[in-house]
Amino acid sequence: MAQLLDIIKETNQSAAQILREFVEAEKLTWPLAAANFKGLEKVKERSFHFNGFDIRAQFNPERMLSSVSNVDKKSIAARKCFLCNENRPAEQDAIEFGDQFLILVNPFPIFKYHFTVSSNKHVDQRFTPNVRYLLELAVAMEGFTVFYNGPECGASAPDHLHFQAGESDFLPVNEDFDRLKSTARILYSRAETQVWAFDHFLRKMISIETNSMEEALRIIGVYYLHFQAMQVEKVEPMMNALCTFSEGKWIIHLFPRKAHRPTQFFAKGAEHILISPGSVDFGGVFILPRQEDFDKLTSENIVDILTQVCVDEDTFQELNEKIKQDLN
Ligand SMILES: [Zn+2]
Repeated sequence: MAQLLDIIKETNQSAAQILREFVEAEKLTWPLAAANFKGLEKVKERSFHFNGFDIRAQFNPERMLSSVSNVDKKSIAARKCFLCNENRPAEQDAIEFGDQFLILVNPFPIFKYHFTVSSNKHVDQRFTPNVRYLLELAVAMEGFTVFYNGPECGASAPDHLHFQAGESDFLPVNEDFDRLKSTARILYSRAETQVWAFDHFLRKMISIETNSMEEALRIIGVYYLHFQAMQVEKVEPMMNALCTFSEGKWIIHLFPRKAHRPTQFFAKGAEHILISPGSVDFGGVFILPRQEDFDKLTSENIVDILTQVCVDEDTFQELNEKIKQDLN
């Protein structure tokens, strides 16, 4: 197995080229991956227009397992961890990242190039002790957005530390951010670092743009500490995070949440919509594994689902106020 950074040095290729070739090579030797990436060519998409931005819906039947996975303690204890090296498919190859992570091709893709970045060790999915890796991965995997699903916010292996990554231009949030940040509320502004709160984006989003890793970590630390104090009963505050590195800057989107799944997930009959929102959904692409949900989904459903799973307005304002006071 080779290190990503060594391959970049030796081949003089960009990370994006190397990672794309890695997916192509896996397709040649791993029938499941080949079939599912092929299936991705046939997924259907619909766009929903909101005030100044779109949210897309993707019908993707291969994501069924991930969407319905039981992540309660008992179910997790009863299954073999699919990210542990001894249980991974024999066909699955890996590129190393540092001494702690393996970059793997995700055999149930949403993106044309979809990766799981899995810890070498079976340790719990936790944000703060590992957020530095998220930022480092975003630099090494430039061109891709690296994301984190919290243990109760979409991670289907809450007991095994991992990130995912997919090509940045697939996620509407990256373009939306550039276009809408001038209308967002500034929480902190210095020459090389800005922090915004998005109040009119359906999902509650706090975004950081900076060229300094230490600044990014400091601000994320401030966010985490205040949010944690508001959800003391949780193993960690409920959240998703997306991170992109481009032109020398990190852009980090943080999505504070209050629920894992919306009522539609548990409803029976016509009310039922099988959706289990994670970072990709917050990034602007709703993943629906059932055709009937894809066909019937409405703008009202999207608004309702995001309202249910995001922190409520008062909590968001309180959190923003605390971050603002602390940073300034
Ligand atoms: Zn494991």
